Amino acid sequence: MNYEIPETMKAWVLGDPGVLTLEEKPVPQPKKSEVLVKIDAVAICATDLEIIENGPPAMIQGGLPFNKGFTPGHEYMGTVVKLGDGVDEYKVGDRVAVEIHAGCSSCERCREGMYTSCLNYGKNYEGNDKGHRANGFTTDGGFAEYAINNVNTLCHVGDNVTDEEATLIVTAGTAMYGLDTLGGLIAGQSVVVTGPGPIGLMAVAVAKALGANPVILTGTRDNRLELGKKLGADYTVNVRNQEVVKAVKEITNGEGVHYVMECSGAPNAVNEAANMVKRGGRICLAAFPSKPVEVDVAALVRNNISLFGIRGEGRSAVHRAASLISEKRFDASLIHTHTFGFGDLLTALKYSKERIDDAIKVVVKIPG
Ligand SMILES: [Zn+2]
Ligand SMILES: [Zn+2]
Repeated sequence: MNYEIPETMKAWVLGDPGVLTLEEKPVPQPKKSEVLVKIDAVAICATDLEIIENGPPAMIQGGLPFNKGFTPGHEYMGTVVKLGDGVDEYKVGDRVAVEIHAGCSSCERCREGMYTSCLNYGKNYEGNDKGHRANGFTTDGGFAEYAINNVNTLCHVGDNVTDEEATLIVTAGTAMYGLDTLGGLIAGQSVVVTGPGPIGLMAVAVAKALGANPVILTGTRDNRLELGKKLGADYTVNVRNQEVVKAVKEITNGEGVHYVMECSGAPNAVNEAANMVKRGGRICLAAFPSKPVEVDVAALVRNNISLFGIRGEGRSAVHRAASLISEKRFDASLIHTHTFGFGDLLTALKYSKERIDDAIKVVVKIPG
């Protein structure tokens, strides 16, 4: 199969904070171990909104990403249309989903599989080039017709998975990485997921698919909690109507759970999680409050509780999550709520930001 690749492409470019414009850019060329992906669909993530408005965690040329010709967007899928030198893992025409971080592949953390915590983050510019890639963060991302991906950041997608579903693989991968970090022994163990946003809902689905029992989802919105049930939650707790720690204790015969995946970022979330896990339990933080908060450290110490933070989707978790989705262990498409055309990206961002029409995952399709 051969694809006609134009010299230039349409790409959304970040100017001043909050300002994206559709521009013409050269189509990038894949180097060794890289491929050119023609993007078919890209989902919007809360982190995109953060980057577009405030900058970090995006970092371009050692600083803020504004007015540097940078294209954000990181949850995309598409078709391989050109191979760089030495690539035999993928063929032209292959459908692929992506993960975000290639890292630098030479630092201590990258070598350990913790490439989302690369020690050379953002170092990919003249005078400071360690070859770091995190598409949509430190290198150009998916709000464009084409993007470059290292082969390490791709996974095959079967025809039984829709474009929209495939954009959600990276989200499921983040949930999977959280469960890995908690210890990985999930079957038959109890999990509370706090916060039914996209990562929380995927954490419910992945935990259930791995055999966790019971899976308890907590949140404030009944419709989101209902969705959590469809994705595998055995119990839901609306924290507006119920005292959440008490409810979790009741469900678990007074013992508490093995694990908490904290996906809410609520100010008191760590303290509540510490009271929901049984002694020796583990808490993974996949979200954070906007300001520093008070934590009852004594409760953590006295009860031998371990607290982990995760960033993104390390240790090839995306590959395992992709497998659960293609094996139809859960229906990721349930969290996809809206689709827009490529020219309507600004409207799509608004839907995502303001949760218009109860938007969860908003996907932009790129024709051609
Ligand atoms: Zn994201
Ligand atoms: Zn690295």
